[in-house]
Amino acid sequence: MPIFTPGRRWQPAYSPFKQESFGNLVLENIEYAIKSPLFGCRMCGNCLLQETAFICPMECPKGLRNGPCGGSTPEHCYVDKTRPCIWYKIYERSFKLGREEKLLEVLPPLDWEKVGTETWGDVAATVKKNGAGKVFKSIVLNQGESRWKTWELVFGAVRQPDWWKGDSEYHAPGYSEPVSRLEKAFKNGEFVVACEIAPPLSVSTKKLIENINIVKPYVTSINFTDNASATPRMTSWACSKIAIDNGAEPVMQIAARDRTRASLQGEILGASALGVRNMLCITGDSPILAPQPRGRMDINDMDAIQMIWILRRMRDEGHYLDGREIKFPPKFFLGAAAAPFASDPKFQAIREHKKFNAGAQFFQTNLVYDPERMEIWLNELGKRNILGKIYIMIGITPLKSAKMAHYMTQVPGVFVPKAILDRMDQADQKGGPAGAQEEGLKIALEIIEKIKGKQGIQGLHIMPVGWEDIVPRIVTEAGLLPKGFVKPEAVSPKTAA
Ligand code: SF4
Repeated sequence: MPIFTPGRRWQPAYSPFKQESFGNLVLENIEYAIKSPLFGCRMCGNCLLQETAFICPMECPKGLRNGPCGGSTPEHCYVDKTRPCIWYKIYERSFKLGREEKLLEVLPPLDWEKVGTETWGDVAATVKKNGAGKVFKSIVLNQGESRWKTWELVFGAVRQPDWWKGDSEYHAPGYSEPVSRLEKAFKNGEFVVACEIAPPLSVSTKKLIENINIVKPYVTSINFTDNASATPRMTSWACSKIAIDNGAEPVMQIAARDRTRASLQGEILGASALGVRNMLCITGDSPILAPQPRGRMDINDMDAIQMIWILRRMRDEGHYLDGREIKFPPKFFLGAAAAPFASDPKFQAIREHKKFNAGAQFFQTNLVYDPERMEIWLNELGKRNILGKIYIMIGITPLKSAKMAHYMTQVPGVFVPKAILDRMDQADQKGGPAGAQEEGLKIALEIIEKIKGKQGIQGLHIMPVGWEDIVPRIVTEAGLLPKGFVKPEAVSPKTAA
């Protein structure tokens, strides 16, 4: 157990994979010998300790370098319940030290060429460049702002390489006309309804197209999940293209879990060329939720915030992460996930603020069953002055059975009040499966009614989990039919296999 990082190391130390000079090897070993017992250092070669309250973020099993995931809890990490969420600890200590605003800086993904090597060499080179004597004197003799500036001069350069240059500022989109129907609806001030459809488990697109046609007249856009629960299904971009072919507006979800920075950038160009205009970046569920055998869990190339940062710059600045120009940049409306019930609302609000600053234009939240408790999170967003500046869609999943209601209590980042569990149990006992379904629908409508009028909320994101044919009823009974709604007729699929 390291002294300053409150948990054991999750992954083994990285091994150097290239030949190095004797001097570097000595420095590496000294750094490792000191930082391993103190911080559980695993020699990521891209040290962030100054920004993370001197708790090593590389303990996080999901490789997050920009804050907790939507499944974090004060009690434990959801990937490994025997350990604390390291990001919860970082936030907790940062608040205690009054350093929480430092957590807003968008930190870079690893430079893998440096992994396994020392960071101290970079620090020494920066100190030398700025005059060792001057730096030393300023840090030792100065106080307050002046000392901090020198500290930043040295460590800021190490932390934020030229190819990244992350900051804690808001970056507005580099365009003004809406690029998608979803964005246009938000800009027109509509209360927007979106829906999620799980991609097929085979190459048959028949059911997918049926579901698209069921929900299409009732919603503005349709999300396609990206290997949710780390379980393979048809890819999100293929479903998005099928949606476009069938006259629907897709939101393509992209999980960092299954991507490298190269595949992300290539896929975004491809999807944009195919006409996909809404992207939603998520870190993705841990492979711990996947069917066995498990895939690798120790290599994470990016997190959701880094994805947003990369994609916004591709779109607005017209270049790849490596700096090469993109002659015809992609166009898209950029979204992110938000988690009102994970960890602590004030911690989550910092993470949402960071996503907003990095380039997120809309949020789709995790499932909400307790609108009153969600207020705490909204208030925290309000304190950060981002409420009303980013479009927020609240996640709604109608409960189909009492069993499902109880299962939801196990889903990371979801909170189901006891009163709802009791209602579902009673409905199931009295009315069987049909009674439980009606009660689930009634609960969903009650939640929607409470959410509709809340300040800062611009829409709903219905996640029916295989119950797509309930969507028309929810939208109709909630009084949320889109403008100019025309009751659908039977539609013949265009590309059904
Ligand atoms: S951030 Fe990287 S270099 Fe710094 S203590 Fe953690 S593993 Fe070591």
